[in-house]
This record gives sequence, structure tokens and C-alpha cells, in this order.
Amino acid sequence: MKNHSEDVTGLSIENLKGIGRERARLFAKLNIKTIGDLITYFPREYEDRSSVKKIGELSDGDCCSFKGVIKGRVSESRIRKGLSVFKAVIEDETGALQAIWFNQRHVAKAFKPMQPYMFYGKIIKNVGKLEVHNPVYEVFDGEEPASTCRIMPVYPSTSGLSQNIIRSAVRSALDLVDGAITDPLPAWLKQEILLKDYYYCLKNIHFPDSMKDLKQARYRLVFEELLILQLGLLSIRESLKGSRKGIAFKKCLEVEQLIEDLPFKLTNAQRRVFREIEADMESSTVMNRLVQGDVGSGKTVVAALALFKAVRSGYQGALMVPTSLLAEQHYRFIGNLLERYNIKTSLLTGSMSKKEKQLVCDELREGTTDIVIGTHALIEENVTFRNLGLVITDEQHRFGVRQRTALLKKGENPDMLVMTATPIPRTLALILYGDLDISIINELPPGRMPVKTYVVDESMRPRINAFIRREVLEGRQAYIICPLVEESEQMDLQSANELAQRISKEDFPDLKVGLIHGRLSPKEIEGVMAQFVQGKIDVLVSTTVVEVGVDVKNATIMVIENAERFGLAQLHQLRGRVGRGTHQSYCILYNQSDSRVARDRMEAMRTTNDGFVVSEMDLHLRGPGEFFGTRQHGIPDLKIANLYRDIEVLKKVQYYAYKILYGDRNLEHAENSGLKKMIKIRFEERLKEISLN
Ligand code: ADP
Ligand code: MG
Repeated sequence: MKNHSEDVTGLSIENLKGIGRERARLFAKLNIKTIGDLITYFPREYEDRSSVKKIGELSDGDCCSFKGVIKGRVSESRIRKGLSVFKAVIEDETGALQAIWFNQRHVAKAFKPMQPYMFYGKIIKNVGKLEVHNPVYEVFDGEEPASTCRIMPVYPSTSGLSQNIIRSAVRSALDLVDGAITDPLPAWLKQEILLKDYYYCLKNIHFPDSMKDLKQARYRLVFEELLILQLGLLSIRESLKGSRKGIAFKKCLEVEQLIEDLPFKLTNAQRRVFREIEADMESSTVMNRLVQGDVGSGKTVVAALALFKAVRSGYQGALMVPTSLLAEQHYRFIGNLLERYNIKTSLLTGSMSKKEKQLVCDELREGTTDIVIGTHALIEENVTFRNLGLVITDEQHRFGVRQRTALLKKGENPDMLVMTATPIPRTLALILYGDLDISIINELPPGRMPVKTYVVDESMRPRINAFIRREVLEGRQAYIICPLVEESEQMDLQSANELAQRISKEDFPDLKVGLIHGRLSPKEIEGVMAQFVQGKIDVLVSTTVVEVGVDVKNATIMVIENAERFGLAQLHQLRGRVGRGTHQSYCILYNQSDSRVARDRMEAMRTTNDGFVVSEMDLHLRGPGEFFGTRQHGIPDLKIANLYRDIEVLKKVQYYAYKILYGDRNLEHAENSGLKKMIKIRFEERLKEISLN
């Protein structure tokens, strides 16, 4: 059955033999609606049935295909209610073995006498005799076997859809598209890096002729998927630049004065990144820029400079952060810094009273407030601006694309700056933030001593406690983080309380111990935190609310209980809370687990202080999905590629993506039309979102 119309992949799967309304409904649950969906519904794993033996060669433990006839009849015995056993003897010219099926009524009448069948199953030795349980079977008629003697795909499924139904649907879909689909990759590219043909790869990803064919097919499909992803993101970035006219902020020499007035000298990296931002802001296209920098690299001040510049051009600026703790802190720093320049900064968080919030909203609408710093409260409907020109989100990993977009919509094509403290290697950043320009602050302010990290167990507690006491007596402060956070509030409250009790009554009766946990109101948290900032608390016991951004220079010890329960990126964030001043700082990780992974993670933390390296290791040890939450970044789901495992392919892809765009910026050449079409399909949602704002 061949159909040469171009759009065969867009046809409903109901056009396939054996798929009616009801089955189509089940397939829809797997997000399979069209022929195209079906042929790109890739197997989860494979079962290798390709080893074929004579019955006489079979031995215990083999997983093999073998040919034979059924000798005599299939016998049935009812062992008990709900358990029927069907037995038969299979033989060939070299030997015989017993086949046993459990509760498979259909086998009773399945076999014709003298007819050869192919079987596949696991061979088991039972009381000296070979048996095979629940073997798969099919008529052997000289045609190529469908379910035996080959590598079989295993698909993610849903109840009501057996592997066999999916397999045969995929098979018919592949037959249908044979000769009717165009290869999205340009021919020169396939030649240059020896990629196999599209149809060949589709066929072999589902029904590979050999492991080698499977590998080649997978390589090409991974390459193709990543290429389309990368090209899509890069073209979105280009089109955002080209089509969206933004604000051309004025040159602002006064910013040099502000830089002079800072309490410290900017690092070269901070300077360079601010220059990149300045250039973006002064150009008439919309800025979409990501600032990456390790914890403590000084991103906040760069944000402050950009906000200053926006205000001096007559616009308002907004800075959104994930917690009110962080909002307060930025408000203090930026508010104080810019007050001298007659710039009004306001704070807006969910914990403020209705009246306070209303006041800020009024001022923003009227334009009497220049800069607002706040939490998610900023994206609430009643917040409006007179002329919002610059939107910054800090600790980007805590926000989704949607929240960012919601804030952007409050202005008229405002410039956007995104700051992240989970720095990631460039190769990955190009995928995850492919639609943003990237600046990297790759230098820490001078005089910072690397935090010393120790991995310890319970037996070390007395010594650690003595150490904390000594530091406190010298005037320093400590954090103790316990991990039971949001998951179970009951547990959480109890354990955080118990821990605080134990720490204040037993471990440090002589020190001032404070407690922060998820059950406190934001106001209460602010209160405790303020005491810590003012040095009225020596030891702060906390859940992970201090994870992002908190900056208390005098704190030099970070103790993390049950460190094995945290991800590496999170541990690195927590560790980044100390080592912010000029005193030597320490991070102490209590590891309660013997597991290999836990030990590897602790070792990773101990041996490096570099956030980029940490995130790379996190990828190794956890896998990228968990770490990044690709969905949240607004990136289409990956069907076959794995950002960590396929990192080498990704590097190659990036080279070719640039090469293709260099020759054909808008993918208008005929040879790139397949790619363009695929990008449209994969980025449908993202493209909709962009045209919204
Ligand atoms: P992060 O990049 O983690 O957000 P912050 O912006 O909170 O880092 O900066 C960390 C600390 O370093 C702050 O106390 C800040 O005032 C200080 N800082 C920033 N830049 C410099 C600099 N160039 N020299 C000295 N200290 C700096
Ligand atoms: Mg920060």
C-alpha cells in the first residue's frame, strides 16, 4: 500500500488496518493521533529475540527463538480457580521440550498439527528437563518472522494497548509512509557526516535488523532531533531580535559615576557583562539576555546598574525574585544604592498588607516609583506600570517561562534580563536558553577564599559542634540546614522543631539559636532573618528557604544535615551562602547514606567549588530531566535524545546549526524546507507564546 501524497504523515491513524474509533482513543492517550505521531513513537527498550537455535542446542537460561512443531495436542489442567495450565511438547529433528502457558486459553486451539511454528521464550531447567514458559509463537511459512528471530521493540504503553497492537500499528504505518516521506535533513549534511536515510532509520529504530543498524538509526534520529531543537531556538532568537522593536535606551554617562560610588571595585567580568547589557539596551531591538555566574559572582550589582540606566532613560524597572527573603535583601541593597540618585525603589511581596500593596501599585501606575523589587506578587493582575522598560528575573531556575512572560506583558516590549545561579556548561546553555543571548560572569570578587568542604558522619558531631562554638566565639555565625521541607508538613514541623530544640538545649545552650521553617509566615521568617543579619542570632537552623541568594557576609559555617537528600546544584547553592566575606568559610555535609551515588555526590562537592563543574557532575549523576526540568524552560519534550548521554552529538549539532544558519538565515533554501517544517511542528507552542507578547 503506497500513498504518494506529501501529507500522509498528517493522516489520522484510523486510516490504518485494525485501528477503529476505540483503539484510536487509546492511542490518543499516548498522544498518538496521526501516522506521523506513530512512526515517531519510539521504543522504550528492545527485547533481543535474534538468537536462533535448534531445540537440541538449548540450555538452561537461554533466551532464544527456535523452530518446531507441536507434538500431539495441547493439554489443559485447572490447578485451581483462576489458574489454568496449558501444556504441549514442541519438537524438531534434534530434540523436544515442554512448553507451558498459564491462563492463556487461546493456545488450546492455536496450533495445527504438522505445521512448523517459530517460538521465543526463556528456557528453564526443571527437574532435569528443559521447559519454556509462556513462549511467543507464530506460524513459520518461509516469510520473514514478525515476532521471533529478531530484535523486538518495547513501547511505553497504556492499559488496553498490548505491545503487539502497537507493533503492528507501527508496522502498517511504516508501510504506508514508505516512499511517501521526505527526509528533513539536507543531502549534503547526510553525506558529510554519514547519516543514514530517514526512512531506513525510522524502520530500524522500530524493527532493527541488527544492533548495528539500531545504533546507526538512533544516532541519526538523535542528531536530527537536537538539530531541529537547536535551529528552532536560534531562529526564534533571531526573529525576536529582528521583528520586535524595543526601547533604545539613552547613553548614560552617569552610570560611570555610580560605578565609582560603589562600595567595591567591579570585577573585569562584571564590567564586561554590563557593557554587553548596555549595548543591548541602547540598540532598538528587544534585549533577551541571560546572565550566568556562579554563586557570589556579584550578579545583583550588575542588575542594579541596568535598572539605573533604564530609569535615567525615563523608564521604570522591575526585578522579580523567588522568595520574599531575597526580595527584601535586594531591596535593601539596590534601594540604598540608588536613593542618593533620587531614584525611588519599592518592595512588593505577598506578605505585605493590602494597604501597603495598594500604595505601591498606585505609585507604579502613576510613575512615582521608579524601580520595584518583588516576588510573584509582581505578576498579579492589579499591578500596572506607567512605562515599564526593563524586566529582570533573578534565580531564573525558580521561574517558568510563563511567569516571565506575564511580567513582560506589563510593559510595551520591555528589555529582558534573566539571571541564573545554576550555571551550566555552554553546550547545554545553548539548548536550554537557546533563545537568549548569554553573558557569563566568570570571575569572583577578589579576596574570596574558597569554602572548605568536609563530608562527615554522626560520629563527628561533637567535634563539629565544638568547632561551631569556637567560630561563634570569634564572632562568626553558622547555618544549619535540615532537609525535610515541603514534602510532609507534619513531619517537617516536628523534625525542624525537634532539631532546633536539640541544638539549642543540648548542643549550644550557651548560644543564640534561631529557627526558620516552611510553617512560619513570610513576615515571621523576615523577622528571624533580620535578627540573623544583625548578628543577634549565632546559629540559624533552617529548612531550605535560605537556598537562593541570601547574603550574610559574617556567616562562615554551613552545616547540611542529610546532605544525601539534596541535589548537587542545590548543595552548591546552599554552600554559596557562606564564603561571601573575607573570613575562611566551611561547609559541612552530614552524609547518612552508604549508597554509591551518595558517596560520589559528596565527593564531587568536596573536590570542586566551581558551579559549572558541579552542574556538569549533577548531570552525570542524576540525568538532565530531573536537573533542568526542560518543560519549565519552554523547550519541546525530547523524544529520543538525552541531553547528557548525547552531549557529544549535541556539540556536533551546534557546529552544523550555525553552519546552516550562516548560509541561510531564515531557512529559505529548498534544501532546508524540511527542517523548517519540522521546527514549526516542534515549536508550535513556543511560537504561539511568543506571538502573544
Ligand atoms: P550572586 O551572583 O550570587 O547573586 P551577589 O550579587 O549576592 O552574588 O554578590 C555577592 C556579594 O559580593 C555581595 O555581598 C556583593 O555586595 C559582593 N560583591 C559583588 N561584587 C563585588 C565586587 N566586585 N567586589 C567585592 N564584592 C562584591
Ligand atoms: Mg544572587
